[in-house]
Amino acid sequence: MLSTCIVLLACLTASVCQAQFGVPWRHVPAVVVIGAEGDARNALVNDAISFWNQSLQELGSGFRLPAATHVVQAFPEHALQALSQSIVGARVGSVVVPAELHDLPGELTIALGNADFISFASPFFGSGSRRVVAIRSINLFPMSLPNVARNVIVHELGHAIGLGHNNDPSMLMCGRPASCRPALFQSAVPRVFALTDDEKRQLIAMYPAQWKPSPR
Ligand SMILES: [Zn+2]
Repeated sequence: MLSTCIVLLACLTASVCQAQFGVPWRHVPAVVVIGAEGDARNALVNDAISFWNQSLQELGSGFRLPAATHVVQAFPEHALQALSQSIVGARVGSVVVPAELHDLPGELTIALGNADFISFASPFFGSGSRRVVAIRSINLFPMSLPNVARNVIVHELGHAIGLGHNNDPSMLMCGRPASCRPALFQSAVPRVFALTDDEKRQLIAMYPAQWKPSPR
């Protein structure tokens, strides 16, 4: 019972988490989304990629995320749960990516989970060339609230390209240690929350106009 309470509290207070800020991609990652056909999160991932590419374009960056490839296949949800708990509970740098996740099909793999875990973006692994993002079920609170899943997915992709957290609850990348809750993204009108000026500066610093992929 005690462990149930701890997990529940963790989900209520930190449904979005973070890892490894300020480290850009050195190449254009192959983006693969693993999820069931008809899962509403598939379209939200496409929208999130468009959001980040539009933001990068407006900033004059030379980096873009490619369109995602969508696949339907089994993936180890228990490993995603373990990694989620590791990221939420650990200091950055002490996160271990389970071996089962090293063979995911993308370089940036976005897993649309069904199990109960806190959405996350992993640190780089696999010689710094891979990351995994896992998204909590849209049927679970607070993802089930209108406009929350949209912003959680954009938020996690923000981590996946190198952004960290701010402490302004009106902003997209608000998160721990601030007391932001994903439920704050709730809105009757679909909209993506804004980036701070500092985050825009971070993006163009990581991905300048002359950004080019490094040789692999
Ligand atoms: Zn976060």
